[in-house]
Amino acid sequence: MSGARPCVYCLDNGQIEPRQVLFRGEHLYLCAPRGQMIEGYLAISPYRCVGCLAHFPPEWFAELARLKAIVAGFYRAAYRVAQPVFYEQGRGGRGAVTDRAGGFPLHAHLCALPAAVDLHGLLARHYAAVPVPGPEALPEATGHRPYIYAEAPDAQGCVRMAAYRAASPAQDILLEQARLKPLIAAEMNMPERGDWRAYPGDEELARLIERFAAFQANATWTSPGSSAKRFP
Ligand SMILES: [Zn+2]
Repeated sequence: MSGARPCVYCLDNGQIEPRQVLFRGEHLYLCAPRGQMIEGYLAISPYRCVGCLAHFPPEWFAELARLKAIVAGFYRAAYRVAQPVFYEQGRGGRGAVTDRAGGFPLHAHLCALPAAVDLHGLLARHYAAVPVPGPEALPEATGHRPYIYAEAPDAQGCVRMAAYRAASPAQDILLEQARLKPLIAAEMNMPERGDWRAYPGDEELARLIERFAAFQANATWTSPGSSAKRFP
């Protein structure tokens, strides 16, 4: 850990309460962060303080795929949403360990929303797309530069995966400082919910935790080797 502020996603800092950790895998966990701009905002994060998905060890990606499948199953069951919008702000792509503007440590987290938002259209207005087959291709595709990863239906409803980079390395610093959530909130016509401090969404958070517990109780999955008995 580094930086003036405690890392939000390092669980031993207590920034994320135990009730917000919905599932614990071997290397990664699924959590319900504050800042529920809509109910159902989730994040998949490693226990270890790694800056971004592009810096994951290769063996973590299979588990990432399993946790994404849990999210997709939950969204289908709870919100009747067929395809999650997954995204990651890979601010740590070129090795930065602290957020320049906020002063907080960079700790990888893949975000998920049960929403219909044209994330590819939004990002393509600002950045250059590098199509990838999935997050496991990020280490190679992002070329040690900051990026935004998007896995979401495009305007035609076709699910696409791409890493978005600044038009040139000279503009990488702008991408490192970019805040995606306010852009998404504005795109969803709820700009006032783009900052978790302004809109923590604590009621939505409580409902989400409840709903996930009900989903988990009804699941018939078996464990991948973790102590949880009911998950794939
Ligand atoms: Zn951390």
